[in-house]
Amino acid sequence: MKKRPTRATAYLTVALLVLVALRYTPELPDTPAAGVLQQGAAATTPPLAIAKFVAPAISSRTEKLNRGETLIGLFKRVGISDHSAQEIVRAATTSAIEPRYLQAGMPVEFTGDSAGDEPKELVFHLGIDRLLRMRRSADGWVGTEERLPWTTDTVVVAGTINSTLYEAMDDGAAQYFPARAKDELTWTLADIFEYRVDMSRDLQVGDKFRALVERSVGPGGITKVGKVLAASFTLSGTEISAVRFESKNASPQFYDATGRSMRAAFLRAPLEFRRISSTFGTRFHPILGRWKAHKGTDYAAASGTPVRAIGDAIVIKAGWGGGYGNVLELRHRNGYVTRYGHLRGFAKGIRAGVRVNIAQTVAYVGTTGLSTGPHLHFEVLVNGVQRDSRLALRSVAGDPILRAERGAFEARREHLLASLSAAPGVVRLASR
Ligand SMILES: [Zn+2]
Repeated sequence: MKKRPTRATAYLTVALLVLVALRYTPELPDTPAAGVLQQGAAATTPPLAIAKFVAPAISSRTEKLNRGETLIGLFKRVGISDHSAQEIVRAATTSAIEPRYLQAGMPVEFTGDSAGDEPKELVFHLGIDRLLRMRRSADGWVGTEERLPWTTDTVVVAGTINSTLYEAMDDGAAQYFPARAKDELTWTLADIFEYRVDMSRDLQVGDKFRALVERSVGPGGITKVGKVLAASFTLSGTEISAVRFESKNASPQFYDATGRSMRAAFLRAPLEFRRISSTFGTRFHPILGRWKAHKGTDYAAASGTPVRAIGDAIVIKAGWGGGYGNVLELRHRNGYVTRYGHLRGFAKGIRAGVRVNIAQTVAYVGTTGLSTGPHLHFEVLVNGVQRDSRLALRSVAGDPILRAERGAFEARREHLLASLSAAPGVVRLASR
């Protein structure tokens, strides 16, 4: 009995020594939190070697569901017994999974006590922001569906045109949005201004744009373009601003700074900006002989690109027109006629006498008639005379905001335009 306290004291001394050794172990940066410090080595090895970690007693692996593979098949592949596999599938199906509709490529994480054992936890990555976590409990497998949070903020993006809007956006938005989201934002801006600015032709070197745009950042850093709240273009020194406003009786719309709708009677271009390949040059000269005299605007675009009616109209011609090839002519209000040439063909049902709506697809880009490559020849005729479409279509402004909502609009406009003028980057929006 006498020896016991002595042995206990010895143990205590060793324990204290280890504690002291650990206490003076320098803290090492960037050490994985999950690691377990190998204590025995602490006292005798130099500091850097202390950072030896033994693998935690947990093994984890991620496998993807192959095309045509069942969950049972996947489980078999990772070494889960048939019995457990069936149990897991049963529990997963009652939780959130419809096995027939699982996507090939879905990652499944398996976590177990050690490499050889069957897993204790499975995580099905059902979508970028949705997962099903399954745990083995005493009562069998239990699943919980989890939603991963998105965060939303608001950023000001600004750029200057050196060549195209795409390139300006690349420079202005690269640090806030990934490539695909940047294109989306470019197209959204083109859509907002499509009654005022022809993004494929009106922009000049030195012109500027700004956008106040919501950004959603999801799990894994995936970034989406949210609502554009306000935007502006400064073209040859003239600024056009657009403000998003939710009218009481209508869906949200964009209004210019004077309170006129950004929507108007005419689109500024017969091709959607997002449909015009950025690899096509904006200058295109399919000019031959007397054709040199033609007045109009040429849009280079791939054959088959949809052509839109730039305003509500009645078709006055849809057929062959000599040098124009297949040509479409539309009569609008106020004596305006628009002409679309070199078409590959017409949209279904388009023939003389038919009524068409603004932005309706009426034809497809081609290279018929006197043309050296796929492009759309577009003309605006006012009272029978060919006019520069930039001038002819410029004067048209949209409907004013309702008188009853004028006050609310002006408050919103001040607030948004102030935010829009902030330095590029994340901005804090005051509540409305
Ligand atoms: Zn032309």
